[in-house]
Amino acid sequence: MKDIERAVAYRSVLEVCNSTAGKEGAGFSILRPFPTRTLSYVDPFLLLDHMQPVPLKPGEAKGAPDHPHRGFETVTYLLEGAMEHRDSAGNFGRLTAGDVQWMTAGAGVVHSEMPGPELLQHGGVLHGFQIWVDLPAALKMTAPRYQDLSSAKIPVAVSADGLTEVKVIAGESLGIKAPTGTHTPITFLHIKMAAGAVFTQPLGSGQNALVYIVSGTARFGPGAETVEGTGKMVRFALEDRSLYLENAGADDRLDLLVLAGQPLNQPVARYGPFVMNSEAEIEQALVDYRSGRMGQIAGA
Ligand code: MN
Repeated sequence: MKDIERAVAYRSVLEVCNSTAGKEGAGFSILRPFPTRTLSYVDPFLLLDHMQPVPLKPGEAKGAPDHPHRGFETVTYLLEGAMEHRDSAGNFGRLTAGDVQWMTAGAGVVHSEMPGPELLQHGGVLHGFQIWVDLPAALKMTAPRYQDLSSAKIPVAVSADGLTEVKVIAGESLGIKAPTGTHTPITFLHIKMAAGAVFTQPLGSGQNALVYIVSGTARFGPGAETVEGTGKMVRFALEDRSLYLENAGADDRLDLLVLAGQPLNQPVARYGPFVMNSEAEIEQALVDYRSGRMGQIAGA
C-alpha cells in the first residue's frame, strides 16, 4: 500500500528527451530539446534554446540582427555575458547575468538581439536561454509588449532546509510570486539544489510541465531512475500533482529549469519567426512583414 501511495503522489514522467546541438542566429552554439524532428513543441512552449557557455574571442560574438516575430512571446534569460535588444516598438534593453526579457511579439515586431559591445570587443562567455511561449488564437494579434526584468526585480525563494534555491521568473514557488505579466498561466523557475536536496513544486491543475537539466543529475520520483547531464529534458504527464525534484548526484549541484503552462490545444502553424494557427495566417504574416507593417528599428 505504501509503495502504491508513493508511486501516485507526484507527476509521472512521460519521456526523457535529448537535445540536438547546433548553431542559431549568426553563430550561437545551442542545445535544443525542441523543436526537433521528433518533438515539435510542448504546448504552450514552442521552442527552448540553451545558448552554450562557449568562450568567444574578441570580434567573434555573434547575435541575431534585425528580424521579425508574430504570434507568440520570446523570453530571454541570461546566466553570463551581456546582450542588447532593440525593437520596432522603440524599446532598448540591455541584459546582463540573471536578467530576463519577456517580449510579447503579438501582431508583430522587428527586433535585434546582439552581444553587448564589451563582449564583442574583448571576447568572453555568453550563456543563457531563449524560450518561445505560444499565444492563444484570440491574442496572437495583440499589441506588442516588452518586459525588462533585471535580476534585482526577480525574487529568489529558499526552501526551509536551505538546500534549494528557486528563482521565480514567472508564476509562484514557496509562496513567492514573480512580478512578470503573462497572457496565460505560466510557471518559469530556475532551481539550484545542493547535494541531497529534495524539493516538490505544486503546479496549478491543467499546467503542462517540463524540466530542463542545465547541469547535474536528477531524480523525478522517489527511488526513480536518474536523469543525468546538460541538455536532458523531461516531460511530465498532465496530472493534478506536484513535481518531485531530487539532486541525485553525489556531491554536485543540480541546476534545473522548470517550465509549466496551460496547454492551448490549438493548431500550430510555424514558419521561421512566425507562429500562427493556419497557413493562411502565416502567408498574411509574410505579406505584412514584407510590406513593412511590422515596422523597423529606429535608425536602422
Ligand atoms: Mn528574435
